[in-house]
Amino acid sequence: MKGTIAMEAKERMLKSGALLEGHFRLSSGMHSGFYLQCALFLRYPENAEWAGSLIADMIAPFSPELVISPALGGLIIGHEVARHLKIPFIFCERENGIMKLRRFPAPGRLSYVIVEDVVTTGRSTLEVADAIGAVSGGEFLAGACILDRSSGMHGIRPELLSLMKTDFPVYPEADCPLCQKGIPMIEPGSRRLSV
Ligand SMILES: [Zn+2]
Repeated sequence: MKGTIAMEAKERMLKSGALLEGHFRLSSGMHSGFYLQCALFLRYPENAEWAGSLIADMIAPFSPELVISPALGGLIIGHEVARHLKIPFIFCERENGIMKLRRFPAPGRLSYVIVEDVVTTGRSTLEVADAIGAVSGGEFLAGACILDRSSGMHGIRPELLSLMKTDFPVYPEADCPLCQKGIPMIEPGSRRLSV
């Protein structure tokens, strides 16, 4: 069942142009045969609804009272998950680099899940948990995301739920097999996207 969901997620990523295959230079400077931009997946509300309902199903057994996301990346999917669970949604955002709950009253003792689009290091989710923990006494039940690309290194406890896991190999330029094969570099932003 889980494998089927991951396969459909990958298909939807490819179809929406969010997942590109080729030869890319990532923002880290590393080279990769894959490039993924989750916003391109979520630009189709049908994809957000699909992913949100599946994440909501995974989260439902925890019986959270609130969904919290880090802005900007978690806004669309977090809201969609909350809609399916019929519970409120709030978000944290950075102010001078520090993750804070700025626009909402502290959630008191409400238990909560933290939902993001992509977890790479887990930093944003952990910072949201710290920001909420500093002002409220509710239990952090679990993290959830569409795509877990952390290779298990995210540090989110008690657990991180995801629709899809990827660990695309990345290479320093000097050791890049794609460079060695002479495959031309693609600039993701410059490719015309089909709508
Ligand atoms: Zn390369």
